[in-house]
Order: sequence, then C-alpha cells, then structure tokens
Amino acid sequence: MRRSILKDLLILLGVFALIWLLASLFNYPDKPKLLSIEKEERLGEAYVDLILLNPMFRELENEKIDSAVSMIGDRLEANLEHSDYLYNFVVFDSKMINAFTVPGGNILISSGLIAFCDSPEELASVMAHEMGHVEERHVVSRLIKELGIDILTSGDQYVLGEVTGLLTSTSFDRKQEEEADRFAAELLERSSIEPRTLATFFRKLEEESDNELMKHFEIISTHPNFSSRIREALSYEPADDFKALPMDLDWEGIQAGL
Ligand SMILES: [Zn+2]
Repeated sequence: MRRSILKDLLILLGVFALIWLLASLFNYPDKPKLLSIEKEERLGEAYVDLILLNPMFRELENEKIDSAVSMIGDRLEANLEHSDYLYNFVVFDSKMINAFTVPGGNILISSGLIAFCDSPEELASVMAHEMGHVEERHVVSRLIKELGIDILTSGDQYVLGEVTGLLTSTSFDRKQEEEADRFAAELLERSSIEPRTLATFFRKLEEESDNELMKHFEIISTHPNFSSRIREALSYEPADDFKALPMDLDWEGIQAGL
C-alpha cells in the first residue's frame, strides 16, 4: 500500500516536472528567449540611432550633464548582481519629463527629467527603475508581443518607424511596473542610495500628474495603480546597517547648465 502511494507521488512529481519544463519552454513572450542578447543589442543600436534622428529626441550635447549621468549610471551598474548588458545612457534635449528604455541596455533620459529631479538620487531612482525594465526584458517582450519576432528583426524601414513609435510611448503592465520598482529599490540599496527615494519621487510625480510635460513618462502612464506603487515603495525597508553614501555632484550647478 505504502509503496503504491510512493509510486503515485513519484508519478505526480514527474508530471509536475514535465509541466514546469514545458512552461519554461513556452513562456514566451514573457521571457523572450527567442531573441538573443547579441541580437537585441544590434537592434537596440539601430533604434537609438533612428530615435536620435527625430527632432523631438535630439541628443543633448553637454559634457557636464553627460558626466553626471555616467557617474550615477556607473554607481548603479557596479552594484548589479549580474547583467548581460552594457548600459548606454543618452540624454536628449526636451522639456518633457521623460525616460524610456530601448532594447540592448539603452536608456534615454530627457533634459526635462534632469531639471525636474531635486537630487542626483532622484534621477538614480528613475534610472534604476528603467534598468529593471532592461534586466527583466520587458521592452523586448512588448515589441515581440506587438509585432512578432520575424517582423521585429526584419530590418524593414516601415517596421523601424513603427518600433520607434512604440518605444517612445511605451507603457508596461502593472506586473512589469511592480517588478521594475522592486528591482530599483534593491539596486538603490546595494548602491548605497536611500531606496525610498523612489517613493518620494513618485509622490512628487503624483502631485504634478496634471503637468502636460509628463504625459509621455512611462513611470506615470499606469496612473490608476500609482498610489499602491507609492505605498509599496515606501514600505521597502533597507537592512539595519544600510548607510546612504551621497553622490559627489554639484546638482544645482549641473542643472544650471541645462
Ligand atoms: Zn516603468
């Protein structure tokens, strides 16, 4: 009797293992294994070039701003547990408060967002959130879902235009936003940046949610759930021995150059 229960259990276990294996093979487009990181990087480069050709996203050429953004990016990147990506942060010249990710670890940040952030830590919290979308491959998932992998990688001019439109108006689903928020809080903590900066920054966004300048900002585009995201971000507790290490940047001086 006991032996047969054991056999049944083993069979059940086997069935679960098979289901798990199948689910992990077919969980596309949530985890887009069909597109290698190398391919994603090549696509990303092409899209960044294309986006920067658009007068709405002209690259801001300002050494002081670029070096501040790289300094923040370096601190965050150095504290990633593991990454397949080499990050590229590009600042574009726009009054809009905006930041978005392009495949291949490319994150585009508007000069308007830099002006809106009261501290480099606030900007770091947005950058960490966008890095969450990169690491979780949310952008690629969405593109594959909308266009299909064959079309996405076809290199067709029309498709490139279509993708550019999608990338610059990306909105993620609630689960993806929560994943990116969680990722950001953990990364900020590891980077010695107060992780609840994310919450205070979100609160500021919420207060200004009628501001026309932020209507394309993906962080706020899932507005109906925003209050719960703020609560969630506020409830994040760093470890007892956490100590914030201030960014050595003259933020006002940097902003004055915008
Ligand atoms: Zn987001």
